[in-house]
Amino acid sequence: MKLNQPVDFSKHLGAKHFVVVRSGVRCVNLRRFTVPPNTTKKVPTRIGISLRLGEWNVLMDKIGLLHDKFPELRTVKPCYADDSHMHMDVYQNCSECCPRELYEIV
Ligand SMILES: [Zn+2]
Repeated sequence: MKLNQPVDFSKHLGAKHFVVVRSGVRCVNLRRFTVPPNTTKKVPTRIGISLRLGEWNVLMDKIGLLHDKFPELRTVKPCYADDSHMHMDVYQNCSECCPRELYEIV
Protein backbone atom coordinates (compact mmCIF):
# COMPACT_ATOMS: atom_id res chain seq x y z
CA MET A 1 0.00 0.00 0.00
CA LYS A 2 1.47 3.29 -1.11
CA LEU A 3 0.47 6.71 0.12
CA ASN A 4 -2.21 8.48 -1.92
CA GLN A 5 -3.11 5.38 -3.96
CA PRO A 6 -6.65 4.06 -3.50
CA VAL A 7 -6.85 0.51 -2.17
CA ASP A 8 -9.95 -1.66 -2.04
CA PHE A 9 -8.80 -5.25 -1.49
CA SER A 10 -10.82 -8.14 -0.11
CA LYS A 11 -10.00 -11.85 -0.30
CA HIS A 12 -11.93 -14.79 1.03
CA LEU A 13 -9.69 -16.83 3.35
CA GLY A 14 -12.13 -19.64 4.05
CA ALA A 15 -15.46 -20.18 5.76
CA LYS A 16 -16.67 -16.75 6.95
CA HIS A 17 -13.21 -15.16 7.13
CA PHE A 18 -11.80 -12.45 4.88
CA VAL A 19 -8.75 -10.25 4.70
CA VAL A 20 -9.64 -6.65 3.87
CA VAL A 21 -7.40 -3.66 3.15
CA ARG A 22 -8.99 -0.31 2.29
CA SER A 23 -7.81 3.22 1.73
CA GLY A 24 -7.99 5.45 4.74
CA VAL A 25 -7.57 2.56 7.16
CA ARG A 26 -3.91 1.74 7.42
CA CYS A 27 -4.55 -1.79 8.68
CA VAL A 28 -4.74 -5.35 7.44
CA ASN A 29 -8.12 -6.50 8.70
CA LEU A 30 -8.52 -10.27 9.26
CA ARG A 31 -12.15 -10.70 10.17
CA ARG A 32 -15.22 -12.93 10.24
CA PHE A 33 -18.20 -11.67 8.25
CA THR A 34 -21.90 -12.38 8.54
CA VAL A 35 -25.10 -11.54 6.71
CA PRO A 36 -27.61 -10.04 9.17
CA PRO A 37 -31.16 -11.44 9.02
CA ASN A 38 -33.37 -9.91 6.33
CA THR A 39 -30.39 -8.43 4.49
CA THR A 40 -28.24 -9.53 1.58
CA LYS A 41 -24.96 -7.77 2.26
CA LYS A 42 -22.18 -9.33 4.29
CA VAL A 43 -20.82 -7.15 7.07
CA PRO A 44 -17.79 -7.48 9.34
CA THR A 45 -18.27 -8.87 12.85
CA ARG A 46 -16.29 -8.03 15.96
CA ILE A 47 -14.52 -11.36 15.62
CA GLY A 48 -11.14 -10.72 14.07
CA ILE A 49 -8.10 -8.52 14.31
CA SER A 50 -6.86 -5.34 12.66
CA LEU A 51 -3.11 -5.21 12.33
CA ARG A 52 -1.36 -1.91 11.70
CA LEU A 53 0.97 -2.13 8.71
CA GLY A 54 4.01 -2.34 10.98
CA GLU A 55 2.40 -5.16 12.95
CA TRP A 56 1.57 -6.96 9.70
CA ASN A 57 5.21 -6.67 8.59
CA VAL A 58 6.38 -8.10 11.92
CA LEU A 59 3.94 -11.01 11.53
CA MET A 60 5.21 -11.69 7.99
CA ASP A 61 8.81 -11.58 9.26
CA LYS A 62 7.93 -14.19 11.92
CA ILE A 63 6.22 -16.68 9.57
CA GLY A 64 9.53 -18.51 9.12
CA LEU A 65 9.82 -18.97 12.89
CA LEU A 66 6.27 -20.30 12.99
CA HIS A 67 7.12 -22.81 10.27
CA ASP A 68 10.28 -23.80 12.15
CA LYS A 69 8.26 -24.53 15.29
CA PHE A 70 5.38 -26.23 13.45
CA PRO A 71 6.87 -27.71 10.25
CA GLU A 72 3.58 -29.40 9.38
CA LEU A 73 2.24 -25.93 8.53
CA ARG A 74 4.61 -25.75 5.54
CA THR A 75 2.67 -28.44 3.72
CA VAL A 76 -0.88 -27.42 4.64
CA LYS A 77 -2.98 -26.99 1.53
CA PRO A 78 -6.37 -25.32 1.28
CA CYS A 79 -9.30 -27.59 0.53
CA TYR A 80 -9.81 -25.88 -2.85
CA ALA A 81 -6.42 -27.25 -3.92
CA ASP A 82 -7.80 -30.79 -3.58
CA ASP A 83 -8.82 -32.55 -6.79
CA SER A 84 -12.28 -33.12 -5.34
CA HIS A 85 -12.95 -29.39 -5.76
CA MET A 86 -12.64 -29.78 -9.54
CA HIS A 87 -16.28 -30.90 -9.33
CA MET A 88 -18.49 -27.85 -8.98
CA ASP A 89 -20.96 -29.60 -6.67
CA VAL A 90 -18.16 -30.46 -4.22
CA TYR A 91 -16.85 -26.90 -4.32
CA GLN A 92 -20.29 -25.35 -3.89
CA ASN A 93 -21.12 -27.64 -0.96
CA CYS A 94 -17.80 -27.06 0.81
CA SER A 95 -18.40 -25.03 3.99
CA GLU A 96 -14.91 -23.53 3.76
CA CYS A 97 -15.17 -22.41 0.12
CA CYS A 98 -18.84 -21.46 -0.04
CA PRO A 99 -20.30 -20.95 3.44
CA ARG A 100 -24.06 -21.01 2.94
CA GLU A 101 -24.66 -18.05 5.21
CA LEU A 102 -22.56 -15.78 2.99
CA TYR A 103 -23.14 -17.17 -0.49
CA GLU A 104 -26.69 -18.48 -0.70
CA ILE A 105 -28.32 -15.10 -0.92
CA VAL A 106 -31.35 -14.79 -3.17
ZN1 LIG B 1 -13.36 -26.15 -0.04
